Amino acid sequence: MQIPISIRILGDSGPFSPTGRSISYLIELNDYKLLIDAGAPVFYLLSFPEICSIDAVLITHLHEDHKRWLSDLLLFRKYVTPTKPKIKLLSSESIHNEIKQNLIPSLEKTLSADSKKIIRLNYDDFVDCIYLGPRAKYKVICENNNYQIIDENEKPVSIDKAKIFKLPFTENIDILVYDERDKVWVNPEAYYSFSDERYYYNNRTFDIPEINTKIEIINAPIWHGISAVGAVLTVDDTKIFFSGDTVFDLNLWKELAVVNNDNAILKNSEIKNKFVISDDINKYIEKMWSMERYKEAIMYYNNTDFIIHDSAAINSIVHTDFKELYCLEKSKTLLTHSPDNYVSYIPLTYKDKKYIIQNKKIFENSNNKNYELNADIYVKYQLRYFVGYKNSNGLFAVIENDNGLLELKKRTEINQSSKDVEYYNLFEDIDGAYYPADSELNNIYIKMKNKIYKSVEKENGEILLILQQNHRE
Ligand SMILES: [Zn+2]
Ligand SMILES: [Zn+2]
Repeated sequence: MQIPISIRILGDSGPFSPTGRSISYLIELNDYKLLIDAGAPVFYLLSFPEICSIDAVLITHLHEDHKRWLSDLLLFRKYVTPTKPKIKLLSSESIHNEIKQNLIPSLEKTLSADSKKIIRLNYDDFVDCIYLGPRAKYKVICENNNYQIIDENEKPVSIDKAKIFKLPFTENIDILVYDERDKVWVNPEAYYSFSDERYYYNNRTFDIPEINTKIEIINAPIWHGISAVGAVLTVDDTKIFFSGDTVFDLNLWKELAVVNNDNAILKNSEIKNKFVISDDINKYIEKMWSMERYKEAIMYYNNTDFIIHDSAAINSIVHTDFKELYCLEKSKTLLTHSPDNYVSYIPLTYKDKKYIIQNKKIFENSNNKNYELNADIYVKYQLRYFVGYKNSNGLFAVIENDNGLLELKKRTEINQSSKDVEYYNLFEDIDGAYYPADSELNNIYIKMKNKIYKSVEKENGEILLILQQNHRE
């Protein structure tokens, strides 16, 4: 029998949500615990033994909502459970470098046992870095303020093959590379997918043979501005794709891969013969994505069994607008990272939810029972969570508002002559159990000793508690 894949949602909120949950998923495979991103306050959400037994953390990118609690986890492991193996940190080479730069100031020094001396520590004392993804063919080195690009054989690369861009006000270096086959100047990190051997080699995965699991990182569908990767978890023959924030927009992607920037000014300009150029690299990029990257990006959506995808309101720029996601299959998709008020036809994750994937089917697991995700709509509303089922007498409808967002409306607010309106009855989801919602969403449900009661105020002000049945049973 296949190992059940357990996905616990520690945090699923949008980047600026006051819930402070941000993004973290705890993946459990038998006893193996992998945290994908560390944006959620893990110390508050996990039990002490659970925190102690995290084996590995995969970081998709360095936005704080995805990595805010990482240094605390590393400090905890070193000082609270020093006999445990170091946490394995999984990411791409460039993201590892960014994490290291970012964390060193908080990790590198401490005091001696008598507090009289400052002790220096190494970053590697805290973490076991596992490099995933490929190595880049070109590397920038800097000696005595002179930049050079070297290839995989450490040979200098000539100016007709690659150039360095450095804006005066930033420390960041970008490189522009000439692609011999496509005959265009490109930013290689954007242009090539990790599997493209024109620029990348030695694509590394992380294998855990005892649970028949492989973890790989991918870049093709991940489009986020800063360095970012997605992850594909393969357990037995089940593949789950986690987006590390992306702009999933098929029309945009196609444009990135086919449209040449004819205004790129390298070819006829005097900087043709320069190597280090102090200017904005974007003026010189002739094409953003290779056709291979575009095809591979789509392939991950088609060839993975399940997709855990970020989702945003509209015009979100660095996340995926919800409308783009409706082409995904409902039965294999979970939407996460969504705003606090949100309506979706595809299952939305919510804080503390746990999902089990087994034999290529996904279930929500609550109170040790597996439930199918069979609601017609999923609603986040004022920090409450509802599901809706189609019903011609339903108390609610979903309309698209002027901003193009789906919005929940009371039946009484709908023009009764409009024919194509679908109605729903809503249920409030309380810890995975469903209780009917009234037309004003005013019902108050109270949990006591694992039972749910509806609180009803009588005319004399007395409060009556009525025991409720879970409608999900
Ligand atoms: Zn991000
Ligand atoms: Zn994010």
